[in-house]
Amino acid sequence: MNANPRRTVLILGAGASCASKFGKPVMTGFFNDQQLPENIAAFFSWFHSTADRSKWNIEEALSFLFISESRRHLWGEFGDPAYHGRLVRFDEVVKEVIGVLKIDTFPEHCDKHVSLVKTLHPRDSIISLNYDLICDQSLLHCELPNPSIAIDSGENLNWSNENSRMGKLAMTLGISDLYAGGQPMTLMPGERESGFYLKLHGSIDWLYCPTESCLNNRVYFPSCIYPTYQQSQGNPCRRCGSSLRTMIIPPVGVIQFDSLGRLSFLWSLALRELISADKIIAFGLSVAPSDFEFHWLVRQASRLRPHGAIDLNVINSNRDHAERFVALCGSSGAQREYHYYSTVEGYLRRCRDNTIL
Ligand SMILES: [Zn+2]
Repeated sequence: MNANPRRTVLILGAGASCASKFGKPVMTGFFNDQQLPENIAAFFSWFHSTADRSKWNIEEALSFLFISESRRHLWGEFGDPAYHGRLVRFDEVVKEVIGVLKIDTFPEHCDKHVSLVKTLHPRDSIISLNYDLICDQSLLHCELPNPSIAIDSGENLNWSNENSRMGKLAMTLGISDLYAGGQPMTLMPGERESGFYLKLHGSIDWLYCPTESCLNNRVYFPSCIYPTYQQSQGNPCRRCGSSLRTMIIPPVGVIQFDSLGRLSFLWSLALRELISADKIIAFGLSVAPSDFEFHWLVRQASRLRPHGAIDLNVINSNRDHAERFVALCGSSGAQREYHYYSTVEGYLRRCRDNTIL
């Protein structure tokens, strides 16, 4: 008998949000239905050499702007994406991204995502490559949140609230004041026993201060779990007065973790969770070739996993994308099980039929 309980990691990509009841767009064709300011539309037409919006890829464009802005302080006009007003600022595009990804309908959760989350055990983790709040809302619906936060408590009342995935979000992002003796250097025992919610490329509702010397520079504030605080991009930082920015990091190849504060912690936790997993559910991942950091994460985890064996469950309407993820996992056929589902309903049906919770 295996003494260690089974651990599952659910990984979410843009295809998962597209398959939700909100039908959010994937990265290519992201702005198909969005009214855009003229300068942003002109930038995308220039960047992709076409006015055909179905060919515009939001991650490629955001990556270009992100890299430009990271060089501006060194190279001046040669790294400035808005030099002479020819292009646009990263934050201008992020504002449009938020407009597309925000959730305006009620209830704010998607029943399919809630059902998927409910197949997980509290010790299982969720890794998301998405900026949107669809999984956040599903977790808020399922998990009892922090008692100091006034939100409908939902179900699963036997979950330890501060150690639930959403209950730990503020802790993982660095703003929690729940520790009686001050914030400990690493995870507390209770935090280690339960799973995490790790958004590896940031979120449309995470705010941070852009001033490097400010204490709010290396921590992120998740507005989603504190809706009554009404914090938003552009408002002044309480510590230094700088305009707050939204924490979104596009897949820029190699992420400079030493300058991104808590993002390094999230990726480190993600690697550890993937190493200890014996089951992975990958939902809607396109496995973009440019996301070298994510490729490294999955490959490194498969290399370091002590038992080798993994139960791979890939949910994706695009079979080629599914196969790309399986190839990335790399382990030999003898060491893994592989189940493919074209829809999340198919996966949930198998869970019900086999009770593989
Ligand atoms: Zn500040």
